[in-house]
Amino acid sequence: MKTWVDKEKCIGCSLCSALVPDVFELEEDGKARAKVEKVPENLEKLVEQAKDMCPVFAIIVEKD
Ligand code: SF4
Repeated sequence: MKTWVDKEKCIGCSLCSALVPDVFELEEDGKARAKVEKVPENLEKLVEQAKDMCPVFAIIVEKD
């Protein structure tokens, strides 16, 4: 699974970085980014949750 953040949409609420800190982080511009290109298998469910919970649907998930 791959994931990334659409910075145009992200409002920097920090939900994703709080929920899955090993995958998402907030950058200096106040917006989130994915730290890893490929999501570790044990974090896939959490990344799906973050995607569903993001208030502006800025998290994109691409399944293998
Ligand atoms: S949950 Fe969505 S809006 Fe909030 S920081 Fe993450 S990508 Fe940005």
